[in-house]
Amino acid sequence: SGINFDNYDDIPVEVSGNDIPEAITQFTAPPLDPLLVENITLSRFTKPTPVQKYSVPIVTGGRDLMACAQTGSGKTGGFLFPVLSESFKSGPAPIPEATGTFSSYKKYPTALVMAPTRELVSQIYDEAKKFAYRSWVRPCVVYGGADIGEQIRNIGKGCDLLVATPGRLKDLLERGRISLSNIKYLVLDEADRMLDMGFEPQIRHIVQECDMPDVNNRQTLMFSATFPRDIQLLAHDFLKDYVFLSVGRVGS
Ligand code: ADP
Ligand code: MG
Repeated sequence: SGINFDNYDDIPVEVSGNDIPEAITQFTAPPLDPLLVENITLSRFTKPTPVQKYSVPIVTGGRDLMACAQTGSGKTGGFLFPVLSESFKSGPAPIPEATGTFSSYKKYPTALVMAPTRELVSQIYDEAKKFAYRSWVRPCVVYGGADIGEQIRNIGKGCDLLVATPGRLKDLLERGRISLSNIKYLVLDEADRMLDMGFEPQIRHIVQECDMPDVNNRQTLMFSATFPRDIQLLAHDFLKDYVFLSVGRVGS
C-alpha cells in the first residue's frame, strides 16, 4: 500500500552534503548483508523506494542523515535496512559494565528508534522483527499506557534494537533497565510529529544519554514528513556532517 511504483522515477529527489554516496538501484549485497537481502526477498519487496535507494548507502557509508519524505514513501525500510544490515555484520557489542553486581538487569541496545505513538512504534517493531529474522538482533518495543512490568520482563530476555516512545523510554532509563551507552544507531522517526506532541525535552534528554562519542561513535538519522524551522534546529544540534535527503514535495 502507499507506494505507487508507476511514476516512481519521476519523483523529484534532492540530496545535499559532503561526499554523497551513490544511490543503490536494487536490494542486492553489497552494501546490504546477504541475510538481510534474504529477509527483504521473503517480504516480497522487489525494489527499493527512492528514500531507500539513497538512505541505504548513506547509512551503510557511516553518515548521519536528515531525510524528508511524505507518508507512505518507505521511510521505515529506509532506516531499518541499513541499520540491521550493519548490525548483522558487526555482531553484538561487548557490554561495558558486565562485571557490575546487578548489571544483568540492565540492557544495552545498539540501535534505538524513537517514534511518537504506540501505533507507530508497534508498526516499526513488526517490520524490525520481520527483517531481523534468523539474525542475532532481538527487537523490543516499549510505549506508554501499557503495563511497564511486562515490558521490563520482555526487555530482560534481550534487547538489541529498541523501538520506543520518548516518555516510556525515559521511565525505563530512570528505573535503570536500559542503558544507552552502547547506542551505535539513533533514529528519530516522524520527528516533526514528536515535536508537535511536545516530546522535545524528553528527546533532548535521551539523545544526551546516547552521547558517548569515544565509546560508541554513534550515527544519528532523522526522518520527517515536513522540514519546519524547529526540525532544522534539531538536525543542527543532533547531526554531524550529515546528508540532507528530500524526496517528493516536502512542506515546511
Ligand atoms: P513511511 O514510513 O514513509 O510512511 P512505510 O515505511 O510505512 O512508509 O511504508 C509504506 C508501505 O509501503 C508499507 O506497507 C511498506 O510495507 C511498503 N513498502 C515499503 N518499502 C517497500 C518496497 N521497497 N517495496 C514494496 N513495498 C514497500
Ligand atoms: Mg513511517
